[in-house]
Amino acid sequence: MHLCKKHFVEDVERKIKLTIRKEYSVRKNDVIAVALSGGKDSSVALYIMHKILGNRPDIEIVAISVDEGIQGYRPHSLEVAKNLTKMLGVRHIIKSFTEVHGVTMDELAAMDREKGACSYCGVLRKNILNRTALEIGATKLVTGHNLDDEAQTILLNHLRGDVERMARLAPPAAIEGLVLRAKPLRNIPEKEVALYALVNSLPVDFSECPYAGEALRGEIRELLNNFEAKHPGTKYSLLRGFDKLVGALIKEMPPAKIGKCRICGETCTEDVCQACKLLGRA
Ligand code: SF4
Repeated sequence: MHLCKKHFVEDVERKIKLTIRKEYSVRKNDVIAVALSGGKDSSVALYIMHKILGNRPDIEIVAISVDEGIQGYRPHSLEVAKNLTKMLGVRHIIKSFTEVHGVTMDELAAMDREKGACSYCGVLRKNILNRTALEIGATKLVTGHNLDDEAQTILLNHLRGDVERMARLAPPAAIEGLVLRAKPLRNIPEKEVALYALVNSLPVDFSECPYAGEALRGEIRELLNNFEAKHPGTKYSLLRGFDKLVGALIKEMPPAKIGKCRICGETCTEDVCQACKLLGRA
């Protein structure tokens, strides 16, 4: 579609409202935590959640940022995140890897390691986001995953043959100890998210993390973008196909039993949580 600025903004917001209505019912007294990195996706997620729900006195929106300790990258994006929360008048909590896990991402990246930097970073960040969301009594934890992220994850799991992980992509159910995740941008292509941020003049950091190149996801992203250019609609098709399949997938692979990590007490599906394993505490 070729849309003017006004209709483009309306179109994006209409799709997001539809996603929220269909997949994440918003309730009275909800405390909605939004994971905010300062990048375009999470900034747009916070801006839109605030625009849609910010005037409801029974709903609180709180931004949570995580400082992983990545020099030359994270300090600037955190400043940008602060500008956005100030502009919107949203409460902003910042937690760091150092205060919670006792190590920075730069230190972890410099160690001998079996996995890519993002494997450590993703697990440790999710751990902090969930803990912090629980501390403030959040009922939902919103992330800025867009259509490209979702399509990449689906394809990545197919290529790895990781059906269990695929089943975990299903809309989450409420589990004690894990704040309900919500991805209101999951139907919006990355380019539209970026354009939405630009036309609304949002303070956004467009720089890239120095470790991003290590991730296999980068290859999948390129592959999907090339495919999308030749066959428009590919990313939507991947997501739609997955959404149709997911019900059957969950029946075949019911979620693993939830327990507590014997080391840190966090909610997890094994004896020891992923964060403790990665930090060598097990
Ligand atoms: Fe962390 Fe990887 Fe994202 Fe960098 S690209 S912030 S290392 S998950």
